[in-house]
Amino acid sequence: MQTVRHDLPSPSVGTQRHLISLHYGPTDRGRKAYLQASLHADELPGMLVAHHLRALLDQAEAAGQLQAEVVLVPVANPIGLSNAVLRTPLGRFEPASGENFNRHYPVLTDAVAQRVCGQLTQDPAHNRSVVRAAIATELRSKAPTTEIEGLRQTLMLLAHDADVVLDLHCDFQAVMHLYTEAPYWPVVEPLARCLGAHAALLNQQSGGHSFDEALGGPWWQLAERFPQHPIPLACADVTVELRGQADVDHGLAQADARALMLYLQHQGFVAGPAPELPPLLNPATPLAGSEPLKAPHAGVLAFHKHPGEHVAAGDVVCDVIDPLSNTLTPVRASVSGVLYARTLHRYARAGMDLADIAGSQPLRTGWLLSD
Ligand SMILES: [Zn+2]
Repeated sequence: MQTVRHDLPSPSVGTQRHLISLHYGPTDRGRKAYLQASLHADELPGMLVAHHLRALLDQAEAAGQLQAEVVLVPVANPIGLSNAVLRTPLGRFEPASGENFNRHYPVLTDAVAQRVCGQLTQDPAHNRSVVRAAIATELRSKAPTTEIEGLRQTLMLLAHDADVVLDLHCDFQAVMHLYTEAPYWPVVEPLARCLGAHAALLNQQSGGHSFDEALGGPWWQLAERFPQHPIPLACADVTVELRGQADVDHGLAQADARALMLYLQHQGFVAGPAPELPPLLNPATPLAGSEPLKAPHAGVLAFHKHPGEHVAAGDVVCDVIDPLSNTLTPVRASVSGVLYARTLHRYARAGMDLADIAGSQPLRTGWLLSD
């Protein structure tokens, strides 16, 4: 295993942070898996999974079982990890800019299309190399000024040539679920089975310019743009939501690390016979079909439904109670599906997101991610 240190631009005189990446396995096989933890730095289950995954990768490497490169970034956001206000750790937004650490990643498709135009052939492997080189050139073409720009560029450069990118996050209170782009579902479905995901939310251009979509999106978009040339879907991007923020537990993390290794074995990154996988818990659903329930007014929350429960359209998910006016408003699901996440808070301001239900029919358009 090689440890590489990446210095980030200094945001202020006398201060500089860096990112650490761990590189396992042979680099000459033409395949690569990339995993990172806690890009939202207040979402910690992934860091503990990374800790346990290191032990498994060390073992596999020592036994000569790694068939390709596996890059692990156990702490993807040292900027956010240092943030705290009033004794409360934060980590979703950069305080200086107000920007979400998992938004505003570059949309590379147009620039890469210009760079590869005229170089594409009928050979998918050649086209993959050409597109990867163009993505790397484009990413390096703009020198980052700010610390967050440097973080985004460093993470993108580490991940851009991976066949599989797993971005380990978590929700507030949740069961295991994941997000991926619909074209990659055949590659990601085994991961959902390994991890025991209760929901798999498929989208194409959710609008948030998140890390995963910035990497996977250009491939299916270029394939659509150049239909006369075979461009492979070469970067399967997944955001894995490792349950809720408080689900930081050795037992869960060890099991999740083993599940990730099982997936790496299934995909041929780790030697071994094709493993038998557990069944998919629930069919994949469109992200556009997920219903985010909102607080109709401010009040105390009392939930009737818990993460992992199947709710039916019309079921009361929670009550919002204003104890001054003595108003109790039941909040009902309008779709049927798995309630895969709910807020950690028990006081809602008007309009606050309360819970998410994986409906099976698309009902939303435009920006599909939370801020
Ligand atoms: Zn997150």
